[in-house]
Amino acid sequence: MGYGKETLLKATQILEGRRSKAQRIQMARHMEVTEKLPEIAKYEAKLDETGLAVVKAFGMGKDAEAYISQLASINTDLQNIIKQTLKANGYPENYLEIPYTCKKCEDTGFCGGYICECRTELLKTIAKTDLASVSQSANCTFENFNIDFYPLPADEATGVSARKRMSEILEYCKNYAEDFGPESESLYLHGATGLGKTHLSLAIANVVAESGYKVVYDTAQNILSSLEREKFSHNNNGEKEKEILDCDLLIIDDLGSEFSTQFTVAAVYNIINTRLNRSKPVIISTNLTKNELETKYTQRVTSRIIGGYVSLLFLGKDIRQIKNRF
Ligand SMILES: [Zn+2]
Repeated sequence: MGYGKETLLKATQILEGRRSKAQRIQMARHMEVTEKLPEIAKYEAKLDETGLAVVKAFGMGKDAEAYISQLASINTDLQNIIKQTLKANGYPENYLEIPYTCKKCEDTGFCGGYICECRTELLKTIAKTDLASVSQSANCTFENFNIDFYPLPADEATGVSARKRMSEILEYCKNYAEDFGPESESLYLHGATGLGKTHLSLAIANVVAESGYKVVYDTAQNILSSLEREKFSHNNNGEKEKEILDCDLLIIDDLGSEFSTQFTVAAVYNIINTRLNRSKPVIISTNLTKNELETKYTQRVTSRIIGGYVSLLFLGKDIRQIKNRF
């Protein structure tokens, strides 16, 4: 599981924000309360005294233990008096506690040297939100993938029912997303336009990101133009390329819709080849047939995809298209 630098930084910033907000709230409440109820400030001053006395008591040797336990009970009494005073004046008992979002780690994101659950949750949420900001991912789930859209009767020529095939594909994608890991296969989703390839890629992206993996999802057009911008920018730090080559799951939507240049052909080959060599999964969706793919990206690219990816052919109304494919 690897989150990008930006995601980690965002989580740290949000936690810092929560922490300082909680502290500001507590300060404001403290001012309000001590103004209305000056006796609270007096109890607090006594609390400070007992605290200091405890520190000093550690140097007392043998008699320290009894003295410290006496101080502790005074301390507890004072805290109870403060709570009761607050309550008697219409405040909640814990009104002067710092209202951290996470009490366990006091919004630091770490407790006892371990990453707190709140930070793990936050990272998942940020990864998912990043995904949603580039796509309609939130609307595309496995649950709202409508299988009724696909014709049930088997095609006369091929004997294949589109609905049956698509139910299998839906099931396959669901399992793929739930069991996703570094060992997962790459997928090649192909078929005519409008058959749900984007919907299912996004549904996979959502589930995989929710499990804490770094998912990059975008159209081929956007991925390639951002790589091109980076390559020709003055302060090229290769960050975008690194993200695309290193993320846990890369989803390239609508491969072939982009304007083709020498750069895009080379970049597509580099992405597919590098990730295949590093055994990092990719999901490609395309409307192109094998021949069209070959014409556009050369046989070198196509053979990597055909040989290395699990092929899922999407079927729909015009089932005869199957004959023009593999
Ligand atoms: Zn926490």
